[in-house]
Amino acid sequence: MRYCTQCILPDTRPGIRLDENGVCTACHGHRDKEERIDWPARAAAFDTLVAETKARATSYDCIVPVSGGKDSWYQIIMARKAGLNVLAVTWRTPARTAIGQRNLEAMIRNLAVDHIDYTIDPDVERRFMKAAYEERGTTGLPMHMALFAIPIRLGIQLRIPLILWGENPQLEYGGSELERLSDRLDADWLSKHGCLESTDADHWIGKEGLTAANMLAYRVPMDPEYEIRSVFLGAFFKWNSFKNTEVAQEYGFEYGKQDLKTGTWDFADIDCDFISLHHFLKWYKFGFTRAFDTLSVQIRYGMITRAEAIAEIAQRGVEIPEKDIAAFCKFQGQPESWFWEIAERFRNRDVWQWDGDVWRIPDFLIPEWSWK
Ligand SMILES: [Zn+2]
Repeated sequence: MRYCTQCILPDTRPGIRLDENGVCTACHGHRDKEERIDWPARAAAFDTLVAETKARATSYDCIVPVSGGKDSWYQIIMARKAGLNVLAVTWRTPARTAIGQRNLEAMIRNLAVDHIDYTIDPDVERRFMKAAYEERGTTGLPMHMALFAIPIRLGIQLRIPLILWGENPQLEYGGSELERLSDRLDADWLSKHGCLESTDADHWIGKEGLTAANMLAYRVPMDPEYEIRSVFLGAFFKWNSFKNTEVAQEYGFEYGKQDLKTGTWDFADIDCDFISLHHFLKWYKFGFTRAFDTLSVQIRYGMITRAEAIAEIAQRGVEIPEKDIAAFCKFQGQPESWFWEIAERFRNRDVWQWDGDVWRIPDFLIPEWSWK
């Protein structure tokens, strides 16, 4: 396991490669944003996209997939500025937080936007999450499948020509050069980066009693008669999570220290009680925590040094999301031992070593880490 020499991301993170100087693809993404990408040209390309969209639209111009989080507000504000008539669409998590609900309601009210809160039968969500966790060690797979499929299907069926997603994750958190410079979230991107473990809706039929009808909301339809454009806003305007949060706050987005779920950002990941499990399981699979991601972004933004980030990781430790694990097990009707037994089953033996006493990661970022 090797770490980027500029930030603290390990090369086990999906999408992260280190170059000959030990610099990772996410840091290259930051360099792309600062030095290579011609942002005025991208903004002009966005204007062209808007004009083409408006020429095709017969009802709403675009769908903005939203959770109610800071990025959702920013996406709607930017779409509105461009003169787009927006339909906001949410996949409603079965574990929405109180602050998540408040922010979503304030967003709809303050930004005066039409909105669909798309709710899947919670028992279908429960069974799908159970199957995904037990088979692939991921609780987040149903969430990812639903939140990509629902806006795409509604776009096609309602004849809405544009879907405006948020950041380009490959530009912000590491990906190939081609992926970093792309603006498309298409079927190819979804299969590679949608956190779907190379599965589609059909794969899960029959597991935990899931039927084809149960899986409808998770299915991305194909309609050669109607083509939608599906793009990242972060490919057209330079993304900065802190600045976007400030923009959202000006319109009424709220967060506080008490809302911190995972990592070091109290303004992110606050909509859903289960999101912290998705991040936590990366510890078993890839040997890093959410704080590695968020602190690495802060290093790139010039807010902290690499040494300060390492000190913060050392001070924080693993940060097990105990409350959220308890809530998930309650939702599943399972004892917490069930959660831990499965997490253990997916511990990556390429990353972790058993030393006869405890599991440890050889060459971990912090040599004096407590592995107990
Ligand atoms: Zn890096």
